[in-house]
Formats: sequence, structure tokens, C-alpha cells
Amino acid sequence: MPASVWIPLSFHPGYVAAAGAAAAKNPIILGNISMAKKPTSPDKTKAAAKPAKPTAPAKKPAAAAPSPAPVIPAAPTQETLPLEPAPVEVVATETPVEAVVPAAPEVVAAIAEPVPAEPETAAVVVEPVAAEPEAVTAVVETVPVEPEAAVVEPEAAEIVAEPVPAAPPLIDPEPEGEPAEPQSTHVEEPLPDQEPVEVHLEEPEVHHHHRPSLFIVQIAPEMAPVAKVGGLADVVFGLTRELAIRGNHVEIILPKYSGMRYDHIYDLKEVYKDLWVPWYDGAIHCTVYFGFVYDRKCFFIEPHSNDNFFNRGSIYGFKDDVLRYAFFSRAAIEFLWKSGKHPDIIHCHDWQTALVPVFLYEFYQRLGMTHPRVCLTIHNFQHQGVTGAELLKATGLHDPARFFDYNRLRDNQHPNALNLLKGGIVYSNFVTTVSPRYAYETKDQGQGFGLEPTLHTHHLKYGGVVNGIDYDVWNPEVDRHIPAQYGVDTIERKYDDKRALRHRLMLADNAKPIVAFIGRLDPQKGLDLVRHAIFYSLQRDAQFVLLGSSPYQGINEDFWNLKRMLNESPDCHLEIGFDEELSHLIYAGADMILVPSRFEPCGLTQLIALRYGTVPVVRSVGGLADTVFDKDYSHRALHERNGYVFENYDGTGLESALGRAISCYYEYPDHFRELMKNGMRSDNSWNHPGRDYLNIYDYIREK
Ligand code: ADP
Repeated sequence: MPASVWIPLSFHPGYVAAAGAAAAKNPIILGNISMAKKPTSPDKTKAAAKPAKPTAPAKKPAAAAPSPAPVIPAAPTQETLPLEPAPVEVVATETPVEAVVPAAPEVVAAIAEPVPAEPETAAVVVEPVAAEPEAVTAVVETVPVEPEAAVVEPEAAEIVAEPVPAAPPLIDPEPEGEPAEPQSTHVEEPLPDQEPVEVHLEEPEVHHHHRPSLFIVQIAPEMAPVAKVGGLADVVFGLTRELAIRGNHVEIILPKYSGMRYDHIYDLKEVYKDLWVPWYDGAIHCTVYFGFVYDRKCFFIEPHSNDNFFNRGSIYGFKDDVLRYAFFSRAAIEFLWKSGKHPDIIHCHDWQTALVPVFLYEFYQRLGMTHPRVCLTIHNFQHQGVTGAELLKATGLHDPARFFDYNRLRDNQHPNALNLLKGGIVYSNFVTTVSPRYAYETKDQGQGFGLEPTLHTHHLKYGGVVNGIDYDVWNPEVDRHIPAQYGVDTIERKYDDKRALRHRLMLADNAKPIVAFIGRLDPQKGLDLVRHAIFYSLQRDAQFVLLGSSPYQGINEDFWNLKRMLNESPDCHLEIGFDEELSHLIYAGADMILVPSRFEPCGLTQLIALRYGTVPVVRSVGGLADTVFDKDYSHRALHERNGYVFENYDGTGLESALGRAISCYYEYPDHFRELMKNGMRSDNSWNHPGRDYLNIYDYIREK
């Protein structure tokens, strides 16, 4: 094994999340990928831990003197916004289906075969949540299925029937005793091509650096800027470029949404006319398109059925979301197989594509797709794709006993439901989430929304990689959305952008710092603390700018009310909506960015802010804890300290950090400027994460 390759020695219990430092000493340990273990030395804001002295300076502040204690006036008590994160949604419900769960020993034997994870892992896949053997031998479960979730109404089957395929069936035969459902709402599959058809537009380029080039396929529900809902879209966009720059052949498979930003797709053309994707007892006819999105090679799958899977007003938010993405996952892998593509790595993202490894190892491996290995990245554990037994009928996973098993897809919390994300974890060769701290929080700190036992079972193949940001998009030296470009040596020009921001939002031009919040107005983001911070900032002689929007009407209304309440203030502006261009001006023009999240898998806003010399004030959770290091209390070297951090989710915690930031701005401007520059100098590009993902790919290829 070459020295540059990560070896599973790092899984040793002694290996802790802060692998970065160890990696510097030991080249065989992967840089920023850390297994989900408790961090050894988290940056603690002692001020927050001891609310009685919220602004107490560090005992040994070294060269950076802590900001002096400000006088903290009590913030006005405001009616609070929703606090609790929304529960994981269960999308489908209740049609009885019999699920006979086999006894545990057989389960272990069975799972060792299809799941190509580490042999050690496969041998111990019995999860803590599994029922007692005697209790599971003959359980008959009522499985939830929502009638509306059925894919097609009978009258919807208008596609011309075609002959049954002569090729090996892609769908397992119905198990004995399983009622043969008359699901004839879809047409049958036509004779598929006898030989897989090659549709490579070009041969993968081979770059002979010190490591072999890989053929990597990303299968994702979103990619910026053509179809973006959240950070996942940015990750797919940024990571694919980095992997390609490093000499790999990268292709991306996406749904062809009717509402995509087609103006960002170059040279879109049909490349595969008749892709028939098995679905229920028949198949759905699809067309595959190819186009470039800023040099990225993208395939877009368009199904032709009355389900209109991707032909809707928005990307998510429909009753049949689970079935829509189960179909997309099946279509993506069917396309790989039919077109003769055998990537080294298939990289899937979130629950929407988590069935891909299930399909690969349940169906396609025995059809000859023995080569690919699968990496699954989980961007947020809150959404898992929890559904009922209808999924099995739709996808051809026709063995309820096999799949309604705690070792495979059975949901840990809802015994009558299946969980797509869980299936992805079980079947993938490696699972990542988007920061080492979030990996630890999800496995060991109760942040896994019910998947904690599954993560424990599979901990040997679970780790965290902090996202990067795209330095082509986020670069104050060349950013065309801001009037004054600047870099670390011309940082004073940032104040021209501050003036421009004030002008645009009609804020007073005074000596005050600007505190900003940019993000989805979701309870996850700590909205009650955002609200608290607005009033606190105004009292502390700072200005406040908010840019955000919410899919929840109630939350939007709360913020509209707040906006009306503060309308007269010359020091506050709330912009409720989504505005990418304005976000650039805020990142450039603000002095501080606030991220007080309840939980934050990675967080991109603080990374972008660092790049723009805007000092982050964050809560110490998830990726925020891994990327922002407190000016006064971090154990890091002075030049690595880049912001303010608080721990407790309450007003006192928030004030302890934001108060120090505002005091430093006024009283120690030189120190504040150093913080700004430290952030600008740090590398939060895709450089490190790109290398880390390649190490993971190499690792699962060589196993
Ligand atoms: P999440 O993925 O949870 O939404 P992230 O911090 O990972 O949060 O990513 C948020 C991204 O979306 C950032 O690039 C941020 O600038 C952008 N963003 C969020 N809300 C808005 C908005 N209202 N207008 C413009 N950009 C926004």
C-alpha cells in the first residue's frame, strides 16, 4: 500500500477526531477525515460555560488580549420563534404488508454476502436495536404505506405496452407467500439492448501523477447553480471540479427538473433515448441528456410518465418525494449499467440517492457490475427518507423479510417503516458526513435523528470531512457582485463595500460595525438567538443585516413582523428572500457574521465569511466548531484564531461571544483586523477536502 494511502490503523480507538495534527506527523493518516470520536480538545468558550462571567478574559490570553468586558444590557424579551427542530418526516403510511423477519443468525450470514463493506463490518452487523431472535422469527408487521404515495393512478398508465425483456430480470422474483400485487399501472419493459451501449462522450482522461486516475460518478439530487436548495448543491459543484483538477474523470447524474436553470447548462443534448427503468411490475421510459455546467460533465435523466416526477414547481416538498428519488436512484444506476459504465467510485448524497448502493449490491452486482465502490455523504441527518412498504413494490426489492430487517432498511424508531438513509449507511463502502464534529455528534451525542445505533454498528466506515467553498465563486479579489475588490493586503477597500451595502439597504453611514446573518430561516439555524442578537446588537451600538427566507409561512411572517417593528431603525435591515447577489455584498460589507445554530452539519456561511475577512461569531457545534477558533479561548496558535465562539444555546452564551466581538471592534481595532486577516489567509477551498475524498476512494478501492 503506498505511503500516501490512508490505512485503517486510524480506526484504532486511540485515533481521535482531531486527526489534522496527527496527519502532519504521520503521512499515512488521512488529513481531515476523522472517525466519529469525541474530540480531544474542543475549543471551549469558558465565558459561555460560566455565564456568571460571560466576558471573563482567558487566563493566558498570550499575545492576543481578550476583549475587555463590555457592559451587557439586558436584551428585550421578545416572543420567541419556534425552537425545536422539525421531527424527521415519515412520508408514507399504512397499508398492511406482511414482513417476516428472519432470525438473527441468518441475517448475519445473509448480509455478509451482498454488503461489500469491510469484512469485519459485515461480520458484526447486528445492531443494538435489533429485536431478540425469538421475537423476530415470525413477526408479522403492519407496514405503513400512504395510499397517495402510490406512484401512478391506474388510469395514468398510458404508455404503450412493450414486450417483456428477454435479458436477465433486474428484479428479484417475488418471494413465496408474497401476494402478487396487480401493480400493472406501468408498462412493461421493452427488450433492452442485448449489449450495454457505450455512451461515453469521451474517454476518461488518464493523468499519471503519483496516484492512478479514477473514474468517479456523482449521483446527486442537486447541483449549484442549476438545481440548488442548500449546501449539498454547492458541495457537488465544488467537489467535482476539485476531483477533476486532480486528474480524475468525473461525471454527474442529476434528475432533469423542469425548473432547472437551463441558462447555466451548455450544449445540452439527448444522448440516450430509450432508457427503460424497472418500476413496479413494468418500467418507465426515460431519456438521458448530457450537458456541461461550467466544465462539469452532467447527465440529466428525464422520465416520461404521468407521475411527472421532476416536472413540478419545486425540487422537494411533495407527498411522493421518497418514491420520486427512489426512482431517480434506480434510473441512475440502470443508466450506468445499460450504458456500460463501470466507474471506480459512485459517490451518492443524502437520503435521495441512498438506495443506489442497495440496488448495486442487491441487483446489479450479479448482473456484472462488480467493479464500483460506493461512498455516501450525509449532509444533514434531519431528513432520512422514511417510508412504507410501497417502496419495496415500486423498486423491485421484493423481499420484505430481507429489507424489513433492522440490519438493513428497517427504521430504528418506526418499526413499520423503511429508512432509505439507513439503507445507504448499511450498504455503502464508506459513509461520510460534512465535518468530524458532526460525525461525532450524530453517532455519540444524540444528533443522529435515530440513526445512532446504525452509525455505531458501522463506525469503522464512518467519518467526517469538512466541506470546502468554491474559490472561483467566493473570492473578494475578483468578485463581480461587489463594487470594490480586495485581498488580504488591500483590506481597507472592504470598507467601500461596507458603504455600498449601507447605501443599498439604506442604513446610516456611521462608525458602527455591521453584524450580519445569512441563511435559511429554519429552526436549525437558531432563529430565537438570531432575534435576540438583533436587539442586542442595536443596544451595543452595532448595525444588523439579515438575509434569509423560509419555506414555513409562519416563520416568514414572524420575520416580516420583526421587520415592520424595526422599520424605522437606521441601523437595521431585514431582507426576507433569497438573493445570491446581495449575499455577496453582505459577505463583503459586513464586519461580523453570526451563525448561532442549534446544530450545523458543516455550515458554508462562516467559511465564505472567513474568505471575505468578515469575522464569524458562531455556536460551537458541528462544522462551526471545526472551522472557527475563538480569539480569546482557543488552544490554537494565534494566527489560526479567526472568530468568536460560544457554547450554550441561550442569550447569555450568544452575548458572551457577540459582546466580545463588538468590544474588540471598538476598543482593539488592530486585534480585530488581525482576526479578519487570519480568516482570509486560511485555506477553506476544496483543496484539502478534495484530497481527503480521494484518500477515501483509494481506501475503499483497495480493500
Ligand atoms: P444549509 O445547507 O443548511 O442551508 P449552509 O450554510 O451549508 O446551510 O449553506 C447555505 C448557503 O446558501 C450559503 O452559500 C449561503 O450564502 C446561501 N444562502 C442561504 N440563504 C440565502 C439567502 N436568503 N439568499 C442568498 N443566499 C443564501
